[in-house]
Amino acid sequence: MDGQEKPAKRDFVREIINAELQDGKAGDGVVTRFPPEPNGYLHIGHAKAICLDFGVAEEFDGRCHLRFDDTNPEKEEEEYIDSIQEDIKWLGFNWGKHLYYASDYYDKFYKYATELIADGKAYVCDLNPDDIRHYRGTPTEPGKNSPYRERPAGENLELFERMKKGEFEEGSRVLRAKIDMSHPNINMRDPALYRIKKVAHHRTGEKWCIYPMYDFAHPISDALEGITHSLCTLEFEDHRPLYDWVLDNITVGCHPRQIEFARLNLTYTVMSKRKLLKLVKDGRVSGWDDPRMPTLSGLRRLGCTPDAIRNFCDRISVDKTNSTIDIALLEYFIREDLNKKAGRVMAVLNPLKLVIDNYPEGKTEEFDADNNPEDPSAGTRKLPFSRTIYVEKDDFRETPPKGYFRLYPGNEVRLKHAYYVTCKRVVKDPATGEVVELHCEYDPSSRGGGTPDNRKVKSTLHWVSAGHCIDAEIRLYDRLFGTENPDAAPEGSDFTANLNPDSLKILKNCKLEPSLKNAKPGKCFQFLRNGYFCVDKGSGSGAPVLNRTVTLKDSWAKMENKQSKK
Ligand code: ATP
Ligand code: MG
Repeated sequence: MDGQEKPAKRDFVREIINAELQDGKAGDGVVTRFPPEPNGYLHIGHAKAICLDFGVAEEFDGRCHLRFDDTNPEKEEEEYIDSIQEDIKWLGFNWGKHLYYASDYYDKFYKYATELIADGKAYVCDLNPDDIRHYRGTPTEPGKNSPYRERPAGENLELFERMKKGEFEEGSRVLRAKIDMSHPNINMRDPALYRIKKVAHHRTGEKWCIYPMYDFAHPISDALEGITHSLCTLEFEDHRPLYDWVLDNITVGCHPRQIEFARLNLTYTVMSKRKLLKLVKDGRVSGWDDPRMPTLSGLRRLGCTPDAIRNFCDRISVDKTNSTIDIALLEYFIREDLNKKAGRVMAVLNPLKLVIDNYPEGKTEEFDADNNPEDPSAGTRKLPFSRTIYVEKDDFRETPPKGYFRLYPGNEVRLKHAYYVTCKRVVKDPATGEVVELHCEYDPSSRGGGTPDNRKVKSTLHWVSAGHCIDAEIRLYDRLFGTENPDAAPEGSDFTANLNPDSLKILKNCKLEPSLKNAKPGKCFQFLRNGYFCVDKGSGSGAPVLNRTVTLKDSWAKMENKQSKK
């Protein structure tokens, strides 16, 4: 999209809002919210919701609130609240002054609950959780009224207050909406609005021992904030009648429209926070920001850019049917973005020493190397060259297979930005027989990559000068799961059975060109022929640590090509 305006986004949500604007039904502008529960780190699925919530607000000159949906005291932590804010900002969105917590509305939720009770629309039920389930019926059979359903309002008000005071045990009573126990939608069969939980809350402390249910707290929070469009994922579609019922039966004076869209699912990935937490807790990964995690902090540490994620979200768009997106598409957008932004450097991952016998000892030359052929404004850098260099082990074969054009005895290759060299002999480890050193001769007339006689060579290798390079640790990451659908686990095991045992390979003895010496954590590079790499956040003063973001091989474009040729 360089230099061009991006086309306006089109999807059913934007169409609905556009239609409302045209009919004059839109009121004073669009207000959306992103309502994460602070019980984990944000993942790429949340990015889809964030791009929609904030994106729609931006496009329609409205605003988007960040609201922590913190109505579930046990699982919530400050760490999550901080990371969520950091990740949204990193993606490039901003809620400005509109930061809210559902827990700020606890007094109001309580007040609206008492309103419902006084109106005979909610009651305290003493059935235990098992009985409640039993009375609820099934999708094909109606439920049965609770024996407590006809309690007079006065008694309900008194009991509800005593629930609040902590006089009853957890699970002994709930406040329920009085709707219809034979409603075809199970969510409407007198759903619970409040439950007793004798747990301190990270913001309200010990003040409450009753906590509102999501289906009660969410519509009220939306209404209190003047949200116009409450965008949520499809699993809430069946809850919409309850969302509307709550707002229709209290005097809150605002009725946002709930619109549901499909969740993002990705192949080779689990997205449930419960599962991600398990991976962290069980030490299967190094933390929520392990570069193999689908979390935004993991993707950031891997070297993925916010633009790559936003372009990916634009491309997958928003619709009404659940589907699973090929993770190769995300990788494609990461590659595409880094191709424009990442500086090209030379790095040897598995070094093999190469001595140029006819190159003067002690001599150093410097070559000018372009930083990014895709971006001339990125400039050039100096690349030192000397008699002893390192090349990739894999770029040499003593006995070359057919079609192998890299180094083998007698063959000539180009060293990128430098000279042509021909392999003359090899030195082997006497004990193992492994080739440990190559001896070559260079052609001084090939300086810069061509010869006067226009001699062709079939391969160009990357290299670093042994006396100038720096050591580095490189972490080669692969997909965390070995199967497309990690949730399809064999009988008797769970999704962890599908973890890819080779998702991390650590190379300790890598050699980088000296320009990478002071590269800052978070900086990304393209290692010529090897992929994109990002300096790890833990990379300090010692040998730098880099994470492989993605290889150069683009399986997505290939797949698309194949499909379009069909
Ligand atoms: P989990 O089920 O893993 O706990 P959640 O949906 O409860 O996730 P929330 O923190 O409540 O997570 O999510 C905040 C918002 O992000 C919600 O509006 C939710 O619909 C949306 N969201 C969560 N996961 C996805 C996803 N995979 N794709 C799109 N939107 C998502
Ligand atoms: Mg949720």
